[in-house]
Amino acid sequence: MGDYFERIIDLDVTSAEAGALAEHMVEWMVQRRWILRETSSEAMYSLGVDEGYLPGPQWSEITQEWGEDWIPAPVAVIVGRHAHYSGQGEIEPAAAICPHCQAGTVIIDYPQRWEADPAVWQPFSDAIEAWKHTGAGAATCPACTIASPITAWGWADDFALGTLAVDFWGWPPLTEDFIAEFGRRLGHRIAHHTGKF
Ligand SMILES: [Zn+2]
Repeated sequence: MGDYFERIIDLDVTSAEAGALAEHMVEWMVQRRWILRETSSEAMYSLGVDEGYLPGPQWSEITQEWGEDWIPAPVAVIVGRHAHYSGQGEIEPAAAICPHCQAGTVIIDYPQRWEADPAVWQPFSDAIEAWKHTGAGAATCPACTIASPITAWGWADDFALGTLAVDFWGWPPLTEDFIAEFGRRLGHRIAHHTGKF
């Protein structure tokens, strides 16, 4: 039951703020009885997080109806600068969109190719690695030649860079109302992923 996830990623929170914001979100969900303070490592596979919060008695308030017998797996809270991929596996985004000129740079030229063009992807990959390690990285747009922070770029395939993410493992689909409220409480832009382990 727990090998797929639904993930909400905060795209704008800083490293300095992410830990406190994560605790604020957990406290909110605990108070609503959607999750418990009690944690478990069963049936969850979030990168770098060993344990998640078990579902609380009111968990079904924030999901579609999948029957009373359903038991969701834990909710993992991931704090730290990471690249997040939708779907299954870690496949590079097919394109990057410049925040300055909105030009799209093709990274994977589907359907001619099924892998990233190494020469195109490398500068983006380098900027992402720099951001992960230092909090800052920039990539230069091939179209307008202006360098922009890597976190300002747009991405195809729901690829997302973020410093706070919450993974719901094995939950029925979360309601749109819940996802919207979650985003409002974060106070930032969000990305929303579903995927499989
Ligand atoms: Zn540009």
